Amino acid sequence: MTLEIEDITDSLANRRSDLRFRAHVDYDDHEKVIYAEDKDIGFRAFIAVHNTARGPALGGCRYWSRYGSDEEAISDVLRLSRGMTYKNSVAGLALGGGKSVIIGKPGTRQPSAEVMQALGMAVNSLGGLYVSAEDVGTSVQHILIARGRTPYVAGVPLTALCEEIMPQGIESQAVPNPDPSPYTAYGTYRAIKAAARHRLGVENLAGLTVTVKGYGHVAQVLCRYLADEGAKLLISDITPQACRQIVADFGPETLLAEGREIMSVKSDIYVPCALGGDINDGTIPHLVLAGVKVVAGCANNQLKAPQHADELRRSNILYAPDYVANAGGVIAAGLQYLWMVKPQMTEFPTHQIIMDRVAKIGLTLEQIFVRAEAAGLNTAVVADQQGREGFVQRLAKAA
Ligand code: NAD
Repeated sequence: MTLEIEDITDSLANRRSDLRFRAHVDYDDHEKVIYAEDKDIGFRAFIAVHNTARGPALGGCRYWSRYGSDEEAISDVLRLSRGMTYKNSVAGLALGGGKSVIIGKPGTRQPSAEVMQALGMAVNSLGGLYVSAEDVGTSVQHILIARGRTPYVAGVPLTALCEEIMPQGIESQAVPNPDPSPYTAYGTYRAIKAAARHRLGVENLAGLTVTVKGYGHVAQVLCRYLADEGAKLLISDITPQACRQIVADFGPETLLAEGREIMSVKSDIYVPCALGGDINDGTIPHLVLAGVKVVAGCANNQLKAPQHADELRRSNILYAPDYVANAGGVIAAGLQYLWMVKPQMTEFPTHQIIMDRVAKIGLTLEQIFVRAEAAGLNTAVVADQQGREGFVQRLAKAA
């Protein structure tokens, strides 16, 4: 293996002209961006550290073989790493934002073991500035392979990593779940409750109709919380297997009939749990006609474009910004990582401690809703403001 690493920050920032990498429109004062390549094994990756004012830059490693160009991969790593700075900041974590993207070989969906080893070495070259977790195309198993080459990884089972430093006598049910989805589900549930309370003045969801798009890892846990509180669920998915699961879990009346569009169904709360971009010019009128008052879910990048948050506000639909609502998983991974690096100085993050922390997503959202109303702004803009304040204040303190 011959790994070559090139610091391309100055090229992207237009401080140095480079034949290979040029100034990039998505560059946003990123602290460091590297390009890593191992020609022998066909490994190519970019790692971006956006901001470390709050702490090491935590963010997932994406494996994607459908980038049309390096330009696209760079755009992805720059935008996603910036997004992680805001997400970690609003979540109140002592962590900054970063991301890595591996340019996959055409036709592949997952990295090989040697590619993950190379990624581990590239991460290690940053000396802890960036901490990698799983993302689209990578799993806990992949990150554990990278862990063979670097300690700077998160989102992996603590028991697999640090048996020797685990506190004595810790009950097995107190050990945090290595899977982020249940924490994301709980955080999204608290987000839905906070939004319903603010917009509809209700303390619980009993009797409200809640439409859910996508019945995957997160939604399966989330829907149980919603049902237990008495919400009337209507759920859609595109795979027969997930549809069967909906019927098995909640009965046939909860499965959206084939041929119907979930965003057009009469409902109080719409919960996007599938892919991004489904809040757009074409769908907002359907939500309005359906009587939806709240949009709150776990899907990433729910808004097709920033102006759609304004459109929701004009339509009197309260939007819980996606990266605030779905931060449960990163809170769980982040707290475990912070304990792992300083076990003597940090309280062991038991499952309950993490759940209590994730529950605070509801309070954070309440602050955002109040602030947005007072300022006459949409909630997405206010979440970004809050995120920016969280790292700019740290920068000011350090200066
Ligand atoms: P998943 O892949 O397990 O589930 C997604 C489900 O959506 C699948 O069952 C899929 O068939 C379904 N789906 C796709 N397109 C659909 C459509 N048009 N209509 C109806 N159903 C559709 O994913 P997940 O882990 O549950 O994550 C869901 C969303 O939440 C994703 O956007 C993900 O990026 C985001 N998210 C997840 C986590 C986490 O901890 N898993 C954390 C933060 C954000």
